[in-house]
Amino acid sequence: MAETPRDNASFVAVVGGGPAGLLAAQRLAEAGCRVRVYEAQATVGRKFLVAGHGGFNLSNAEDMGRFASRYGPEEPRFRNLLHHFSPLELRAWATGLGIETFVGTSGRIFPVAAHKPAELLRAWVAQLGELGVEILTRHRWLGFVGATGLRVRDESGRPEVARELVLEPVATILALGGASWAKTGSDGAWVPLVEQLGVAVTSFAPANCGAEVAWSAFFKEKAGRAPLKNMALRVNDGPALRGEIMLTEYGLEGTPVYAKTPQLRAALATGGPANLHLNLKPDLTPEALLTKLRQRRPGASLSDFLRKTLHLGPPVPTLLREVQPEAATLDPVALAALLQALPIAVTGLRPLDEAISTAGGIAFAAVDDHLMLRQRPGTFVAGEMLDWEAPTGGYLLQGCFSTGAWVAKGVLAWQQAMRNIR
Ligand SMILES: Cc1cc2nc3c(=O)[nH]c(=O)nc-3n(C[C@H](O)[C@H](O)[C@H](O)COP(=O)(O)OP(=O)(O)OC[C@H]3O[C@@H](n4cnc5c(N)ncnc54)[C@H](O)[C@@H]3O)c2cc1C
Repeated sequence: MAETPRDNASFVAVVGGGPAGLLAAQRLAEAGCRVRVYEAQATVGRKFLVAGHGGFNLSNAEDMGRFASRYGPEEPRFRNLLHHFSPLELRAWATGLGIETFVGTSGRIFPVAAHKPAELLRAWVAQLGELGVEILTRHRWLGFVGATGLRVRDESGRPEVARELVLEPVATILALGGASWAKTGSDGAWVPLVEQLGVAVTSFAPANCGAEVAWSAFFKEKAGRAPLKNMALRVNDGPALRGEIMLTEYGLEGTPVYAKTPQLRAALATGGPANLHLNLKPDLTPEALLTKLRQRRPGASLSDFLRKTLHLGPPVPTLLREVQPEAATLDPVALAALLQALPIAVTGLRPLDEAISTAGGIAFAAVDDHLMLRQRPGTFVAGEMLDWEAPTGGYLLQGCFSTGAWVAKGVLAWQQAMRNIR
């Protein structure tokens, strides 16, 4: 059954109601397009709300050059993309929804505490409604039909009366997300649908996730879940990152660990060692640390000495012994080396579904400058379903918003080109 608005000439289908899709829908509606958002779940923005649980870090206030560098190999692309919806625009957009933001000490941008994520989403959905955007929830995209059509299943009734629709939009935006936290709707089930077109999709891999370590049963029992504050870590010989990490039953987690997932993944993929080196006293030079360690009297308990002289209380002594059973009897030089480069062998990364984001997705080679699929003109791709990754710190949502804004411009240019042909 065909189900396409009468004003077909400007009808744009946005598939996926996450931040990337909703921002694209907003921009298109503001430009006068007839926009329908098709979302498989009962409500839009489920992962957006999950992101809000841990602090709702919308973006980051650092300078644009450094910001773009967070996208690793895609830095040049994001240097451009960020200009189409910058962190400043994001803040103005939030203000327009009645949500004031502030810049935290780390440069991260958050809504002020009084505003809950659900409030922002509610205000946004209301604004989209005022702009004329129709949001059809429980509508699942099933695949392509012909050169421009889409197959969608209306699941809003009972399963046995679900009906299939065929849409004929003038342009389509796919914003179906990555493949973590499947319960939010980002299940990666779209991959075979685009691969059928011959579109290259890089396999998904966990990004911004915990690292697994084969702790002994004794260590798990004794250390439990405990923070290691003010430390620095690096992967093999890579650059060091400062912050706080958490020892967990399965290994390690925390912002610096998440930020190192690309390097850990690469090391694990080559079968080589994936060693995290922890510097437990990054503020002391090796010489200063050695001077302090030389003050230890023979026979003094290592735990007491570390706690009193270096302010390294539990779980540090247990961790040192886990990695080096002879830690208590090491000479000062060897102990200093251990404290400033404690090697932790990472055996794997946490499962994809637990990851904050996913690496992999539609390869940039498969899209043009406007993020339009080369294999299917008129179909654009935005957000996490593209193959990019970035650390936590607001770079993920900002990347989704910026790609959403950019594909909306691409659709407008495409519509214009189609009109010129006619
Ligand atoms: C625990 C957690 C914390 C996070 N914290 C932050 C943070 O503080 N800051 C930050 O920047 N980022 C954070 N993120 C990441 C951020 O939430 C995501 O990067 C972002 O939501 C991705 O947006 P998107 O629009 O690309 O995809 P998604 O938000 O995943 O949306 C995709 C939508 O497409 C729908 N869909 C999928 N398949 C179909 C289909 N066949 N038909 C119709 N609809 C379909 C899905 O149901 C979903 O609603 C966090 C993520 C998690 C999991």
